[in-house]
Amino acid sequence: MAKLIDGKAVSQKVKDEVRAEIESKGLKVGLAVVIVGNNQASRVYVNNKKKACEVCGIQSFEYALPEETTEKELLDLVDTLNNDPKVNGILVQLPLPKQINEENVIARISPIKDVDAFHAVNVGKIMIGNYSFLPCTPAGVMELIHSTGTDVTGKECVVIGRSNIVGKPMAMLLLHENATVTICHSRTKDLAAVCRRADILVSAVGKADFVTADMVKDGAIVIDVGMNRNAENKLCGDVKFDEVEPKASYITPVPGGVGPMTIAMLMKNTLAAKYLQS
Ligand code: NAP
Repeated sequence: MAKLIDGKAVSQKVKDEVRAEIESKGLKVGLAVVIVGNNQASRVYVNNKKKACEVCGIQSFEYALPEETTEKELLDLVDTLNNDPKVNGILVQLPLPKQINEENVIARISPIKDVDAFHAVNVGKIMIGNYSFLPCTPAGVMELIHSTGTDVTGKECVVIGRSNIVGKPMAMLLLHENATVTICHSRTKDLAAVCRRADILVSAVGKADFVTADMVKDGAIVIDVGMNRNAENKLCGDVKFDEVEPKASYITPVPGGVGPMTIAMLMKNTLAAKYLQS
């Protein structure tokens, strides 16, 4: 039987540390969250980010723009926020409506306020291992792995998924900690055999019940980044939990695993941004 990795508890510890540092140093830290349109999932994420700001003693500034907002209007807002000293971090909630080019918006955010670490400057810094911000979800996964007391050095790690937001930076953070890393994707041959090599298996695919017991080595650490809806419309991850859990040594639940960590790491990045700008 696997031990559950409690993302709620680990994320609470991260948020408590952020709050303690802000309070003890009397810092004024601000995060601007921009949401465009009516995407319900985005609205939930934004509300959770606002709540986390309250918990951490970070001032949040919310900008809710209508669905028909033009790219120029959004870029003008980003310029304003880039120049506002009360705003240390800027987060533009993705996805954006079709008329707005996401790459242009990310490129416009000042790299020292880019708390999602999506800007090409920050992506490049992560690649060379000299970074100001770590991408929130992969950084949260590293915290969860550390919480098990596992030393990643020399471990076989397999990441399923190669997105710019999760898969690629995830692999890079594991590599920085001296893991032997394999990245899998939809063209990978004999995925199950590759995954069975993993001491640490991270799934970031976005498909319910994707990771089955035959893909998991006995005693592996299994981290489920996926956030999906099952047939009953319940939130679930990528991992077929019931059959994988007995084989794993540690496993993250969904919900209550990686999700809360992403927001906690955003809070940590916002504090880091404050220092970068001081
Ligand atoms: P994405 O951009 O859609 O990437 C999915 C990846 O999975 C792609 O690289 C794709 O390969 C790969 N894939 C798809 N089908 C596959 C298959 N049959 N075999 C092997 N690989 C396959 O998604 P994402 O943005 O990285 O997000 C992944 C999941 O994580 C989603 O469920 C998302 O909601 C969740 N997520 C959670 C958090 C959190 O805070 N918990 C944060 C971000 C994302 P190709 O590149 O070849 O197409």
